[in-house]
Parts: sequence; C-alpha cells; structure tokens
Amino acid sequence: MAIKTVALVAHDNKKQELVEWVGANKTRFAQLKLYATGTTGRLLSERLERDDVTILLSGPLGGDQQIGAKIAEGEIDLLVFFWDPLEPQPHDPDIKALLRIAALWNIPFASNRATAEFILTSAYMTDDQHRPQKPDFSYYTGRSTPADQN
Ligand code: PGA
Repeated sequence: MAIKTVALVAHDNKKQELVEWVGANKTRFAQLKLYATGTTGRLLSERLERDDVTILLSGPLGGDQQIGAKIAEGEIDLLVFFWDPLEPQPHDPDIKALLRIAALWNIPFASNRATAEFILTSAYMTDDQHRPQKPDFSYYTGRSTPADQN
C-alpha cells in the first residue's frame, strides 16, 4: 500500500463532518495507521471503535505542530485537515505552519470532504509503484551562506 499513515485534524465546526466521513469509510480506514489531534482523535477512535489511533495533543496545545514534525520526519503519507474557513483560531500560526510543511514535503493533503473523497478513492492509495516524489532539498541544505565566505 502506498499510503499507510494518515493524520487527521478537524476544527470544532468541522468535527462532525470529518467523523461522519471517516465513519462512512470505515473499511478503507481499517487498512491505515491513524494519527490525530486530541479531540479529533478521541472522536475518531470512538466512531471507528479503534484503540490504536495515535492521539496527539489538542491542536491549540501543540497538536498541529506535532503532526507537522511527523510530516517532516517522513512518518505521515496523507494529511486530512478539515480547517474552518469561517472562524479564526487561537493557533492560526500553527495551522499555517502545518499547511506549509505539508506543501513543502509534497504529501497529499485534503482540506475538505470533496478532496478527501478523491484522495481516499484514488488508485494511488494502494499502488505501491506510485509514491509521491520526495523533494530533494540538497540544493538548499548545501547552499553557501554569508558565514561560509568569511
Ligand atoms: P483538536 O485540535 O482535535 O484537539 O480539537 C484540532 C485543532 O483545533 O487544530
């Protein structure tokens, strides 16, 4: 399976939608290792009747940053993040950081149900021949800095 590990996050006004959608796709999710932020994770664990969901801190308490770190370490293959476009969040900087890290590391990322459905039903989900290309940052890590010139 190409996609093995999924991180799930939903803001409060989006939690019901995420839990319903995941519940409706219980069989597909059964194959996947799941990470989630605190409250989202507890709701998903109940809905899926699974005690193996890795539940991180609540988003406002650092959970989004934990997921971002796992993406940077290559532990997450897919991010499903139903963020709320109608309400500012206390942890907006963390949300922006998570979206940036997902873009940077070229992982598939769904911010709403329609996109999540496309991704979950894609043949790429189970095609071992297809892996999103890992970005090569050697140009960046190997760049010279002003300090090198001294
Ligand atoms: P929560 O965090 O799952 O703990 O509610 C999600 C968020 O608000 O980022």
